[in-house]
Order: sequence, then structure tokens, then C-alpha cells
Amino acid sequence: MSRSVRDYIRTIPDFPHEGILFRDVTTLFADARGMRICVDQLLDPYAGTRIDRVAGLEARGFILGGAIAHQLGTGFVPIRKKGKLPGPRIEEAYVLEYGEAVMEVHEDAVEPGQRILLVDDLLATGGTAEAGIKLIERLGGEVAGCAFVIDLPELGGRKRLEALGMDVHALTS
Ligand code: IMP
Repeated sequence: MSRSVRDYIRTIPDFPHEGILFRDVTTLFADARGMRICVDQLLDPYAGTRIDRVAGLEARGFILGGAIAHQLGTGFVPIRKKGKLPGPRIEEAYVLEYGEAVMEVHEDAVEPGQRILLVDDLLATGGTAEAGIKLIERLGGEVAGCAFVIDLPELGGRKRLEALGMDVHALTS
């Protein structure tokens, strides 16, 4: 039987802290077939819908988002951790388990009315994705969907994004 996306992902215990089971998608990305079926399946629900640009959340969302944008024939927008983007930008703070983080996007990266597909490797609490959604919407974009390889439903991210009216698509849990 052929392997599913889930079969290419490995789980590393105690990374980055003791007690954390880290889902490592580098093994998925390293495999040509794994990468291909992952990108195809992430795009599947959006066939026939208008997507103007793909936005990826730093850092693994860049790898997926670049491949997806290439397949769709659209541009790509990086949503980065604070301090990395050189041009005029806007920022959005969000709460982490310990402390706060800030994501940024260039203010000319999304044009008003554009439909943006937001991509990342993993949805946990949804804080990072929500910051990305707010940045896109503040620039006048519309989030066409939020696509993840992995959803950890027990951490509440899907419910949080759906409560914002988002369409959430994930390949495995
Ligand atoms: P959230 O903001 O709590 O939903 O966390 C999601 C963000 O943390 C994403 O940008 C993920 O890349 C990252 N993340 C959290 N846990 C993992 C993991 O186990 N593997 C890979 N990325 C993770």
C-alpha cells in the first residue's frame, strides 16, 4: 500500500523542551513523493476557486507556500517573525504559552480585495495563524482558506479559526 502524508512525518520526543512531542515534517519535505502528495492534497479543496496569492507562516510555511504558489501560478507572501522584513510593514502580536510573539508582513504584500491562501505546517493553538489572518485582513485581503499539514485538535486551533469564519483544511492530526 502506498504511504500517506502522515507516514512521512516523524515525531521527536522532548524537543524543543522535555515533555514535548515535536512533529518533524523535514522527513516529509525530503521525500519527492511525500512533498508532491502533500502539496497536491493541500490544494485539493481549492480547485476551481480564485486564489490570488499564497501566504506562508515562518518558517516551514515558506517551504510549503512556495511550492503551492508555484503550482497555482501565483505570487508568495512571507509572514515573518518580528525584525526580519526590511520594508514598510505592519505587525500583529499574539500570546504564546510563555510570553508574547509578533508576526509581520510587508504592507504592500497584499492588495485590497485579493484572495489569499494561508499555509503552515502545523496548527496547534491557532495563535500564529490568527496573527497571519489579522495581518492579511488589515491589508484588505480576504483569507480564502487556511491549509495545514497537521492539525492538533486538542489544542483548539481549528475551533479558534473557525470561530473567525475561516475555512480550515488539514491533512492529518
Ligand atoms: P500555534 O500558534 O500554537 O498554532 O502553533 C503553531 C506554530 O508553531 C506553527 O508555526 C508551527 O510551525 C509551530 N509548531 C508548534 N508545534 C510544532 C511541532 O510539533 N512541529 C512543528 N511545528 C510546530
